[in-house]
Amino acid sequence: MAQPKTAVRRAGGVEYTLTRRRVRNINLRVRADGSVAASAASWVPASAVDAFVAARADWVCRARQRVAARSEAEAAAPLPGKAEALAHMRALCEAYYPLFASTCPGGRMPKVAVRNMHTRWGSCSLRTGTLAFSLRLCTMPAAAQEYVVVHEFCHFAHPDHSPAFWAAVGRVLPDYRARRAMLRTPPPGPGID
Ligand SMILES: [Zn+2]
Repeated sequence: MAQPKTAVRRAGGVEYTLTRRRVRNINLRVRADGSVAASAASWVPASAVDAFVAARADWVCRARQRVAARSEAEAAAPLPGKAEALAHMRALCEAYYPLFASTCPGGRMPKVAVRNMHTRWGSCSLRTGTLAFSLRLCTMPAAAQEYVVVHEFCHFAHPDHSPAFWAAVGRVLPDYRARRAMLRTPPPGPGID
């Protein structure tokens, strides 16, 4: 009979599921519900996975606090509907577009997308001429939303975070640092790219 692929184990006070997969070594993660999952190649002894998890008990504890804080923040500010969010972000982009028309691909208003992104507030694709925004951004203060819009527009001219990029952001929003700081609370806000 085949060996079960997933087993529940306990190490260093941490209960976790061990799944056997074709991974190089040992992977460990804390899921959004706070449960802990490890995966390891079949040749790694379970005792070695236990030791790996036990050595990271503190890290697991901190990661659990982070996911708990995140779900509290999400419960406090429910996400808007996607269509509503898209209309809102598109209107915001259209308001700023005239300032950036000369650097937008083809000189045209970029496509605007809203996605359920967890790790970024916004992104800019030079290739497709698309500005994409996290659905969660719509729950943040307007000043912060404007900052993300300007940040992403500036990437059409500067596809990096060079001093020239920040100078371009600062020309449109001289107080961009204060606006950016709004996105860092509540922890752990996603980063911005
Ligand atoms: Zn960026």
